[in-house]
Amino acid sequence: MTTPSLRVGTEDHWELRQDIILACRMMYQQKLVTATDGNISARLPDGNLLITPSGVSKGFVTEDQLIIIDRKGNKLAGAPNLRASSEIQLHLVCYDLRDDIDAVVHAHPPTAVAFSIAGISLAQCVLPEVILTFGSIPTAHYGTPSTKELPDSIVNTIVTNDAIILERHGSVTVGTNVQDAYFKLEKMEHAAEITYRARMLGRVTPLPKTEVDRLMQIRRDIGFKGRAAVCNECGICSDAVEASEPNAPREV
Ligand SMILES: [Zn+2]
Repeated sequence: MTTPSLRVGTEDHWELRQDIILACRMMYQQKLVTATDGNISARLPDGNLLITPSGVSKGFVTEDQLIIIDRKGNKLAGAPNLRASSEIQLHLVCYDLRDDIDAVVHAHPPTAVAFSIAGISLAQCVLPEVILTFGSIPTAHYGTPSTKELPDSIVNTIVTNDAIILERHGSVTVGTNVQDAYFKLEKMEHAAEITYRARMLGRVTPLPKTEVDRLMQIRRDIGFKGRAAVCNECGICSDAVEASEPNAPREV
């Protein structure tokens, strides 16, 4: 699809711009962000980043409004009246620590965030889909939004995990492309929804260790290269503890 009026001055990386805008629309329609919340970035071939602008709703942002920044966060190109997302540092730390990823999505998924406010970790071996996709979903300790505390809060966990809950705030998911990072956000919130409903219905128990081991073997077989340790919350997957996240809140 081409939109000539929008392409003026933004011919570069047009398909990538479309990928970001599609994920922005999905994220907004799925209520994983509201108003002007959230931001999405992607790595360009030259190492710079394409990122959503600050203060523009992901429901309405357009391809020509995306901004190119360097790896220090300086604006290199984009509309003069727009600046890059206020959470640039959160994105930069992901690219700095993960040369295997090319996209970052920051959102405010309501159920996942509610778990962090209630002090209940989602880093438990409950859902096979979570183990296969993520290994686990750790929670990073609270950091004040728009300050250095926020990127600092994920430094330890982003190295081994593709999906992190930011306590009382939102989420970070990373992927090999924009769709991959966005789908991880959807899966994270879906897992939180299922866990929430299960907790309303009764006691939530982890999978047996033999099954967790099996799932981790499948994970390795399909090429996840050992990233994303299983949780250290349920007490049944201790062989993966050394690489698991150190700072998730304990279940209360
Ligand atoms: Zn946020």
